[in-house]
Amino acid sequence: MTPPFNLYDFSRPALNELLADWGFSHYHANLLWEALYQQQGDFSALRPDLNGRLQSQTTHALPTAVTDLASADGQTRKFLLRLADGQTIETVLMQFEGRDGLPRATACISTQAGCAMGCIFCATGQMGFTRHLTPGEIVAQVLFANQHRPAGSEPLRNIVLMGMGEPLHNYNHTMTALDILMDHKGLSIAPKHITLSTVGLVPGIIRLADEARPFRLAVSLHGATDAERQALVPPARRWPLADLMDACRYYITKRQRRIFFEWTLIEGQNDTPASPCPRPTAHRPGSARQPHPAQSNQRLRRPTDRGNGRQDLPVHPRRLQPAQHRPPTARHRHRRRLRPIKSDNQTLRIFS
Ligand code: SF4
Repeated sequence: MTPPFNLYDFSRPALNELLADWGFSHYHANLLWEALYQQQGDFSALRPDLNGRLQSQTTHALPTAVTDLASADGQTRKFLLRLADGQTIETVLMQFEGRDGLPRATACISTQAGCAMGCIFCATGQMGFTRHLTPGEIVAQVLFANQHRPAGSEPLRNIVLMGMGEPLHNYNHTMTALDILMDHKGLSIAPKHITLSTVGLVPGIIRLADEARPFRLAVSLHGATDAERQALVPPARRWPLADLMDACRYYITKRQRRIFFEWTLIEGQNDTPASPCPRPTAHRPGSARQPHPAQSNQRLRRPTDRGNGRQDLPVHPRRLQPAQHRPPTARHRHRRRLRPIKSDNQTLRIFS
């Protein structure tokens, strides 16, 4: 028996094509699109014959939550979601107060089950790679998070691709999912509110620039020398810093966009006084002194067991951790050390 189509796998043009093949017009395809993304999957307004066919040949079920863990302050919820084939992935919902005082939410979503990159400090990387997520499985995480946002808050409008997996390793499915999320007749999430984080896959960064993808890009450096990066991030052996910085220059020049450089601080590994300061090391083309229009974010994190930490936790290492899990002395030491290097193009974001 053919497994049912997952309707969330379809971009709007692809859904138009599917319904055209079934003998329905674009008008009905648009009604279906709105039912999926604006009416929480309520198909009652669709033509009965279309509804019947959808019920028999398609699915639009969201993943189910296996666990739902809240941080001590209740502002962050981490869901372990079970997919249709039994694989589990993480989605994190972060709640905060906007400048206008209204509650807002950001979803941190996964793009793969497991990860092939093998970063030494990362529990997901140590689990290994299982499979790419489909576009629908990526989109469904946002719909799930939207359903679980705090009562009274605005619809979810911020997304970070920093969950399980390397988004640029699952390039095509990730791009289809982002096209669906940004579609102006659907969730209509603004590109400036979407941040894709990569550990530094050079061909993917170049492709993002060539395809003029409109969302924001964050590059995780974690080290300022090849030796330091290669010790933490295996893909750095294939794409050394010089190549990565060339790709970043290309992206910035072509897109005229700022890149966020990220730095996970691992106690005793890349946060020592001997480590170079976490500043962007690249320069604007044509100038030896002007830095990239880049921003660097530093994140404080404990390593996994392999790097001396907590391999037993089936959770993604970039997750926000409750403050009481982190030794306050270490956090304060990092704050003291990093504050003086903050400049116009750098922000210090210590997640605690
Ligand atoms: S840090 Fe990201 S890229 Fe590295 S292993 Fe973990 S999930 Fe993969």
